[in-house]
Amino acid sequence: MVQAKIYYDADADLGLLSGKTIVFLGFGNQGSAQAQNLRDTGIPNEQIIVANRVDSYAESAKAKGFNVEHDFSKAASVADVVFILIPDQVQPRVFNEQFFPVLKSTATIVVASGYNVFFNLLKFQPGQDVVMVAPRMIGSSVRSLYEKGRGFPCFVSVEQDGTGNGWPVALALSRAIGATKQGAIASSVREETAMDLMAEQALWPNIIMMFREAFNVLQEAGCSDEALCYEMWMSKEPAEIFERAADDGFVLQLKHHSTVSQFGQLNGALKLDGTAMREHFRDILHNQVLNGKFCTAFSKIEEDLEKEGSENPLNELYRKSEEMPLVQAEKRVRARLAGLV
Ligand code: NDP
Repeated sequence: MVQAKIYYDADADLGLLSGKTIVFLGFGNQGSAQAQNLRDTGIPNEQIIVANRVDSYAESAKAKGFNVEHDFSKAASVADVVFILIPDQVQPRVFNEQFFPVLKSTATIVVASGYNVFFNLLKFQPGQDVVMVAPRMIGSSVRSLYEKGRGFPCFVSVEQDGTGNGWPVALALSRAIGATKQGAIASSVREETAMDLMAEQALWPNIIMMFREAFNVLQEAGCSDEALCYEMWMSKEPAEIFERAADDGFVLQLKHHSTVSQFGQLNGALKLDGTAMREHFRDILHNQVLNGKFCTAFSKIEEDLEKEGSENPLNELYRKSEEMPLVQAEKRVRARLAGLV
């Protein structure tokens, strides 16, 4: 069993950020939340630069009082720290072409997800620090929990300690964005990528498939669209179950259900043989995720994801998902609820 180290505010020295120029590349979900948290922690506004193209994100940063730089190379050349907070798939293009060539040789580069560092898609100089500070929360919660004086779960790691000061700086930055208040868990880009992609490519696809098939069988048995949609997800019962699981325990949340339900769920789950599923998960993890097979395939289609219509492979997947009886039924129910039929 691996027990991770957990870092708290007391482990981090904000003084290490004194006088450092901190650039936020991107002002979207995470960029906007993390930049505001960092400033509210007491990092002077004149030390912070938001690097963003001319658009509504830049306008939003300006409206919040940030210094905005549209010329990425200019921002990169003065940065002591750069938080890369643009979508993962565009990071290699933007960072390698516009930041890497001019970034200081001792700069600290911060990623919020392990993907590009684990798969060696970003370029770094040997004297630079490369750290991961990866909130396990959407940006709006990173901000709202900070504003409430609470922390949020976060992973932290140092992947390249070019200056020899990587860990203290990583912890100072984590504290500045509010990530050590609740405890930042020591992790790695390998661990973060394995867990993220495993959930995205194995766990959730199976859950979607199981909902789809349960829906199909119950529909065949004569259940109505309305009853099925509400029973299965529109009542928000599954969301509540996961909320209880986080608060009370993964299994102990069952105590909130009826006795019939508790018996049915535990008896059913313990009887199911998970061997084939475990093999399937292992296969995805090792032969699709960790060996880089998915990453290579995804890099080939990455630019197509910005295309319109059927040339965009993601649009095609959404189109195909429309064929699922579950999706068609939900459309009918939502149209009826909106009074459209
Ligand atoms: P967003 O999709 O919110 O990023 C939007 C920002 O990226 C905007 O500032 C946008 O500006 C900029 N951007 C988008 N495309 C480009 C481009 N081609 N060139 C330059 N800038 C671009 O990103 P997230 O905040 O969701 O994700 C940022 C990082 O945080 C990722 O590594 C992600 O994995 C990680 N993360 C995200 C979480 C989340 O909840 N979303 C949770 C934890 C980690 P413009 O439109 O001007 O280009």
